Amino acid sequence: MPIHSKLPAIGTTIFSVMSTLAAEHGAINLSQGFPDYPCDPALLDALAAAAHAGHNQYAPMAGLPALRAAIAAKLLLQHGTAVDADSEITVAAGATQALFTAIASVLQAGDEAILLDPSYDSYAPSILAQGAKPVHVALMAPDFKVDWEQVEHAVTPRTRLILINNPNNPATSVFSAADLDALAAIAERHDLLVLADEVYEHLIYDGATHQSVLTHPALRARSFAVYSFGKTFHATGWKIGYCVAPPALSAEFRKIHQFLVFAVNTPAQHALAAHLADPASWQGLSAFFAERRALLAPGLESAGFKLLPSQGTYFQLADYSAIRPDLEDVAFARWLTLEHGVASIPVSVFYQQPPAQKIVRFCFAKQTQTLQAASERLARLGT
Ligand code: PMP
Ligand code: GLN
Repeated sequence: MPIHSKLPAIGTTIFSVMSTLAAEHGAINLSQGFPDYPCDPALLDALAAAAHAGHNQYAPMAGLPALRAAIAAKLLLQHGTAVDADSEITVAAGATQALFTAIASVLQAGDEAILLDPSYDSYAPSILAQGAKPVHVALMAPDFKVDWEQVEHAVTPRTRLILINNPNNPATSVFSAADLDALAAIAERHDLLVLADEVYEHLIYDGATHQSVLTHPALRARSFAVYSFGKTFHATGWKIGYCVAPPALSAEFRKIHQFLVFAVNTPAQHALAAHLADPASWQGLSAFFAERRALLAPGLESAGFKLLPSQGTYFQLADYSAIRPDLEDVAFARWLTLEHGVASIPVSVFYQQPPAQKIVRFCFAKQTQTLQAASERLARLGT
């Protein structure tokens, strides 16, 4: 039977590839980003309580009112930004679904969307699935600074959307207030929408602050902002996130959302609403992860890696030129998994045109003993 693939050039996501390889070879999995420590028992108790209380039928399509109210209260406390829980917040089955839905709701076949590479791996396929065209602008190591003039050069009459990821996975870079101003100027000049993936909003280090599109009036008016409870509450398997957008954009978002998932897991939404009500549940994450980052860094350095600055996310980029300059990063990540028992993610897969760089990504959202065991295995590289 002939199949006209919508995504002929797309293979299996690198996260599945590397996690499978790690499992097959008994490697310590610092590739796919997920914690290996438990989430807060209070969150688990709230989930069980919600299920036992009988909250097991469909939730309202846009999300449980109590959860949307808790999200609005959080955003007010966090940013001083007023968001209308009814018309501007939609609960989604993880950030991945929210991103896809936002893209599907505004891109027509033939439209263009600008991506800043390295870009998270779901963006380009989500654009291509609409018959639209991803236009890639490359950011370069070590600081991955955006040249906004270059971004503006990529705008054409078909451009509808610019995607940003702040903090950036896998670059680990964060935007300054000036970056947001430059983005807003371009979006306004060319009447573009913005899709801001802010799933790592709380994971920012060394005194930097998160510059959210929700705090920038010009961007707030033309942006979808996407978040994930998987990141914030150490529960990636729950697959619940949300999208904040002005009423007209949220209305288009919901037209797609209602037929993609209709509604999201009800007892989990109850549990999240209860948990989110306590600001302590999301404050203090930077300090927690900065400690994890510091536990992994010495092991990588003594193995011969050159570390790039990790300004945000729970990832550390490392240049392996001094270890195996002969290998491309996909081959290096495979070699490190098979020969040294530590799995990482090659960064080239996040580029349309990979630059000549030798960088892999390690996840430090792990227990101390996992990070120590990885460091011990890597230490053998340096001998
Ligand atoms: N965006 C980025 C940048 C991510 O790193 C991830 C996953 N870790 C997602 C979106 C997807 O989040 P979720 O698991 O909530 O779908
Ligand atoms: N976002 C996670 C990462 O960057 C992976 C999520 C997934 O596997 N889809 O590692």
